[in-house]
Amino acid sequence: MQKIQNYIDGKMLDPQGGKFLDNVSPLTGLAYSQVPDSSEADIHKAVESAEKAKYKWNRSSLAERKKVLRKLADGIAKQLEPLAMAETIDNGKPISVSRTVDIPRSSTNFEFFADIITSFSGDSFSTDQFAHNITVKSPLGIVGCISPWNLPLYLMTWKIAPALATGNCTIVKPSEVTPMTAYLFSKICQEADLAPGVLNIIHGTGPNAGSPLVTHPGIKAISFTGSTATGKAINQMASGQFKKVSLEMGGKNPTIIFDDCDLEKAVSGTLRASFSNQGQICLCGSRILIQKGIYPEFKKRLIEKAAKLKVADPRDEKTQVGAIVSQVHFNKVMGHIDLAKKEGGELLLGGHSVQLADELSGGFYIAPTIFENLPQQCKTNMNEIFGPMVTLQPFETEEEAVKIANATNYGLSCSIWTSNSARSLRIARDIQTGIVWINTWMMRDLRTPFGGSKDSGMGREGGTYGLNFFTEPKNICISYDQESHS
Ligand code: NAD
Repeated sequence: MQKIQNYIDGKMLDPQGGKFLDNVSPLTGLAYSQVPDSSEADIHKAVESAEKAKYKWNRSSLAERKKVLRKLADGIAKQLEPLAMAETIDNGKPISVSRTVDIPRSSTNFEFFADIITSFSGDSFSTDQFAHNITVKSPLGIVGCISPWNLPLYLMTWKIAPALATGNCTIVKPSEVTPMTAYLFSKICQEADLAPGVLNIIHGTGPNAGSPLVTHPGIKAISFTGSTATGKAINQMASGQFKKVSLEMGGKNPTIIFDDCDLEKAVSGTLRASFSNQGQICLCGSRILIQKGIYPEFKKRLIEKAAKLKVADPRDEKTQVGAIVSQVHFNKVMGHIDLAKKEGGELLLGGHSVQLADELSGGFYIAPTIFENLPQQCKTNMNEIFGPMVTLQPFETEEEAVKIANATNYGLSCSIWTSNSARSLRIARDIQTGIVWINTWMMRDLRTPFGGSKDSGMGREGGTYGLNFFTEPKNICISYDQESHS
């Protein structure tokens, strides 16, 4: 069975404790590789290596960093097909998604930050006639990144790219549930001649490898994406050491449909927002709020389209719904389906697992599921489920829609479908989310701030927001009036 290794000091290494965990493919439910169960000792080794590399990389020229980031972007682009298949086998997402979203975007993350770093600058303040302030933005030193399983290479590189671009040595811990593309990426780093220690990739569980990364005194900042519960624990661990922390966490995003929307576009957009990646994107809209006048027609069309989504072998180009990432997560989503029934929900579509044939018979597949008639405050409408399961809720007025939309503890994103632009802007003003889409979903410009409000996030990624996170401003005040100030 293939053994995944850590990438430390430019080398591929087994974990020092010699322990490995099974890596299960959700397509089959069978272990197909082994992932290091790394520990504090491996984190120490990575920090030691980063310490050695830090002085040089912190002071590297923009041209040098740009060149390295470009090489990483090219390395990923050249490996598009093997990386896409590896992501699909490890995560369960349809190959069409890995090919057109995950892997291209992972390459673009490096390209984007290679470009934007050259226009990232400090400030300058002319204080009075004889004094000037220059504010420089310095790298933090060594930073830690922790990423989740839903968009494995995409979200890991979204953190590594700005961290490296700003001159930080970086230690990353990918999700132990989907380690394969991070492992393949280490080989791309070796081929890109990344100096030893500039980037280290340590595999393992949250408690065994993630926590020691967060608490290591040599790590100056933690950029985390994952669940709200883990984000909270990380924030508590880091706060005693006054570390910078950026937290991208869970969501329970509303999709708000008004009577005056372009119905066909709204249905198609909602379908994507509901079931893309089996509903396992933090931005997926799991609560669909529909104005009463259009409710019956919208419901009918959404069910028709969702019923046609093909749950099948994720390696098949035509598959639209793949596997749920793990047995644990499959059980969680199925448990939520049962709970929705107990809470009085009326099942409109799905609500069951899907048994595929032959080698896929042990895989984790769930049919797209739609409920209605659930109480607004029930657990199904309040808790993040993170699977192919949505609820429909009717509303009458704009005010009511905003009230329902804001009723959860989460505040990541929202999408509004209406032809009334003044109304959409009023809602955008009042909605408590970090991201608002109007007549679209998941349209991204990498320069814009990305992150959530309330329990969905602290801090923002993207463009200069990400670059600022990985740097610290230092002000240098120069007096050039010797007479009066000496
Ligand atoms: P998770 O919180 O279980 O794990 C995320 C990462 O944190 C993994 O690498 C894990 O090993 C690590 N981890 C776990 N416990 C840790 C600890 N005590 N110390 C340090 N690290 C620890 O999340 P997940 O199940 O992998 O991902 C799904 C969640 O991620 C969902 O809640 C989803 O909404 C969220 N998510 C958010 C965004 C966003 O941008 N806001 C994007 C993608 C996913």
